[in-house]
Amino acid sequence: MKTIYCLLKEILFWALALVNEAPCRVCLRPLAFTASENFVHANRHICRDCLSYLCQPETGRLVLEPETCTETCTNSGTSSFAYIALAPYEDLAKDLIALVKQKAEHRLLCDLAFPLYCLLDKITSEGPATRGLTAPNRQSYLLIPIPMHKSKLPKQKQNHAKLIAGHLEHYARTQGIFKKKSLRLQLVDEVLVQIRETKPQKYLNKRERRLNVQNAFALGKDAAKIKDKDVILIDDVLTSGATMYEALKEIRKAQPRSILICTLARTIYINHAKSRRVET
Ligand SMILES: [Zn+2]
Repeated sequence: MKTIYCLLKEILFWALALVNEAPCRVCLRPLAFTASENFVHANRHICRDCLSYLCQPETGRLVLEPETCTETCTNSGTSSFAYIALAPYEDLAKDLIALVKQKAEHRLLCDLAFPLYCLLDKITSEGPATRGLTAPNRQSYLLIPIPMHKSKLPKQKQNHAKLIAGHLEHYARTQGIFKKKSLRLQLVDEVLVQIRETKPQKYLNKRERRLNVQNAFALGKDAAKIKDKDVILIDDVLTSGATMYEALKEIRKAQPRSILICTLARTIYINHAKSRRVET
């Protein structure tokens, strides 16, 4: 039933795109109907050219305990987790995420989530050795958005991570209708909860960021659902990794089979030797 609803929604957007003369939010050219190569998907707010310019995917590993973990334990894979980011957090990606965060242009997320879905589909279907990323080659994943404290919700109205996860789930459903073998994604909302308020991370240095989010998360009522399952942690931006570090600490207690991190953007550090760009 939900699949039919998703398909109808996609058809509606498709029809709207045909009559919609709104310009691309980035280049201001008329947003002509643009279907991507492998999927009936109409870009709603950002044109295909601008999205192609934006997409410079990167994969790497986030070490769970950056201060104590040695190179050996990083390589063993026991304390580090693979991440996938759609673009470096600079230039156009930074501008678009600022529009989403500061101007509440949440609608942009539906266009940004589509190439992220395609990237996930590609990477998870190509097997563990793909491009240096040890992502498990599975067909089905549970999506866990990084939660937000309830005190922030009245102001911000929406949790961006949850919106991204919702769009990814939607694309997986509609794509599944047209493909024999497709990626199945399911959003599970209350695996993690934020139990105390935190300050915005962007004004803090690395150490302050760690302290700011320390023990800020706890397992929620859906935590039991992820035991022995493959999960993907979703957030909008991965910067110092402090928030992700705290989330991972809790998620591991629920004993999922594997954890993958997926974000729209990733801050590029100069000595960020573990990451690599993905050719698309
Ligand atoms: Zn454009």
